[in-house]
Amino acid sequence: MGGVKTNVKVLGYTEDVKTDNCSTESITKRVYTILDHFQNAGRGTGIVTTARLTHATPAAAYAHTSQRNWENDKDMIKAGVTGDCTDIAYQLVNDNYDIQVAMGGGRRNFLPNTTFEPEYGRLGKRQDGIDLIERWKEMQSARNRSHQYVWNNQQFDSINPKTTDYVLGLFENSHMQYEVDRNRSLNGEPSISEMTGKAINILKRNTNGFFLMVEGGRIDHAHHDTKGALALEETLAFEEAILTALEMTDKRETLIIVTADHSHVFTIGGYNNRGNDILGLVDPFDAEPTLDGMPYTTLSYGNGPGTNFTAGRQNLSDIDTKSFDYVQQSAVPLKYETHSGEDVPIFASGPVSYLIHGVQEQHYVAHVMQYAACVGDYANDCDRQIETVQTCAAFHISYKNSILFISFLIFLVVS
Ligand SMILES: [Zn+2]
Repeated sequence: MGGVKTNVKVLGYTEDVKTDNCSTESITKRVYTILDHFQNAGRGTGIVTTARLTHATPAAAYAHTSQRNWENDKDMIKAGVTGDCTDIAYQLVNDNYDIQVAMGGGRRNFLPNTTFEPEYGRLGKRQDGIDLIERWKEMQSARNRSHQYVWNNQQFDSINPKTTDYVLGLFENSHMQYEVDRNRSLNGEPSISEMTGKAINILKRNTNGFFLMVEGGRIDHAHHDTKGALALEETLAFEEAILTALEMTDKRETLIIVTADHSHVFTIGGYNNRGNDILGLVDPFDAEPTLDGMPYTTLSYGNGPGTNFTAGRQNLSDIDTKSFDYVQQSAVPLKYETHSGEDVPIFASGPVSYLIHGVQEQHYVAHVMQYAACVGDYANDCDRQIETVQTCAAFHISYKNSILFISFLIFLVVS
């Protein structure tokens, strides 16, 4: 998001800020993200996630903190933090009220521990007594902005994207539900695709273009539980959101980037015959039979909670491995499966998508977005009359006239 590498768990700061260290945070060490650049240029910005709005990926777009886990002030008090650092929910409302669309989960981080949230009647987490949802409404009212706070489907459906300029949606106390579990009733919550569509309809009214980040945040969570079927189903919901964005935008003026921030120790194994169910057992006529004589699944994990070694490997012959609750077997027993280190894919369509190819360092992506949109380091790029890079010239010039109308989407698969 910011175009530089930094320390683990640090968001929106250079490597001079040490992890978990409030005293090293300072405004001079801040990194400005693609979202910041769009706001500074008077363009629209939005964040959609199925995780908490204060979770690492969405927070990386707007927050500045030495610890991604400081999602509310209680988290900081528990960690014994001293100094004038602020938590991520506080920053979203107090420092980022210009974000036009922010939708996801995480209601508990915005409410005081004396206020019950409406869906489950649970108390909020905040110890500073601040109701950040009420504060967000006050911030928008004070600026005479048409705005709406929503927490369920009925309210979500009532948002008129033609007349509403600012939306805060907090659809769950913590993360939003998995798509397969999602409550679709009026009291329930929208899909990631529905949130994406609503966000684009609001943001595309900004004639200067927009930046929208959409995170399918729960693919990662299903993987941590080594629930392969659930992770793949959640990926299909994410794909729906990408298709929605592709349908609603013009690729001559909208750059769409789809990528992930990391992988998981998730593999597809065996020599299956064509048509063998991806969620099922490896074909018994496999050319490489198991040494223990028991079947195994096509999907498996390098580590995770699915294998109890004291009991030996479970015989899967009578197990429904296609269930969304099925926990895949893994080589090393852990409570939660881990992230992994291989390269992740990145796909792009639209203006300057030719810059997304081959193998790149991850911080490169933010620079491509800045370049494409003529913001940040490339703020004056759109004034250039002559393209010196001949191979790129034709494409670049062809959209140059409409570059101020370029809008952006980034999709991140996992957090
Ligand atoms: Zn993860």
